[in-house]
Amino acid sequence: MALKGKVALVTGSTSGIGLGIARALAAEGADVMLNGFGDAGEIEKLRGELADEFKVKVHYDGADLSKPDQVAAIVKKAQDELGSLDILVNNAGIQFVAPVEEFPEAKWDAILAINLSAVFYGMKAAIPGMKAKKWGRIINIASAHGLVASPHKVAYVAAKHGVVGATKVAAIELANDGITVNAICPGWVLTPLVQHQLEDRAKEAGTDVPTEEKKMLQETQPMLKFSTPEEIGALAVFLCSDGAQTITGVPLPIDGGWVAH
Ligand code: NAD
Repeated sequence: MALKGKVALVTGSTSGIGLGIARALAAEGADVMLNGFGDAGEIEKLRGELADEFKVKVHYDGADLSKPDQVAAIVKKAQDELGSLDILVNNAGIQFVAPVEEFPEAKWDAILAINLSAVFYGMKAAIPGMKAKKWGRIINIASAHGLVASPHKVAYVAAKHGVVGATKVAAIELANDGITVNAICPGWVLTPLVQHQLEDRAKEAGTDVPTEEKKMLQETQPMLKFSTPEEIGALAVFLCSDGAQTITGVPLPIDGGWVAH
């Protein structure tokens, strides 16, 4: 229970990687503010299950992370309702795939707002409280696409490279404030975000999802298997631990070898 007494906000934690991280932090004793979209009843069930299983406080707020004022408001809500904000995991993200010349401007704006600007607004809102306590962990969920590119993902790749840059700036600014700032860079993780891409690819190629899963991994990930939300959660817990207190400003791949080749 290394994180007992700490409060974590995990954005986009009603699904996929964010949920994996929220579970892992709660399992270590952190109180958690959940966020994200979805069916209200399902989210309330999830909130109650996490609280019961790990005997921690779990609250939820449906802030739309594309709106800067809502990002600041959820940080304040975590502080007000749970007592502080010690761990900020900027995870909410969306994807859209098209060649640059066909990429819809509205999708560019939405991806930049949620995947990049919300990271800035979240850090801006959370840092003063962390500085006052002289302890903080900021974990920004970037991607292998924060380090390398793939075709048809111009907004996503630009946003994720931006997340890695913003992570480095905050890390060096906060180096002597007891606050570390790191980016986790997952390769493929089989979440709804990737499931949609697989379904689209299968439709386009006239194949099926299992075939496209194999092709997706063969294209980029030497270790031919998906990382899991549980593994990303374990890495987030490690970054919050005392053993990681001098790891800062790092984009950490967890990608089965993707960016190594
Ligand atoms: P997901 O679709 O399963 O989950 C995304 C979460 O973000 C959901 O909870 C959703 O409700 C929330 N969300 C979306 N828009 C939001 C908004 N405007 N405001 C608040 N919440 C919003 O996706 P995932 O795969 O778990 O992705 C999580 C993060 O991991 C994203 O930043 C993504 O870019 C990153 N990532 C994913 C993979 C992968 O292979 N799945 C790889 C690298 C990086």
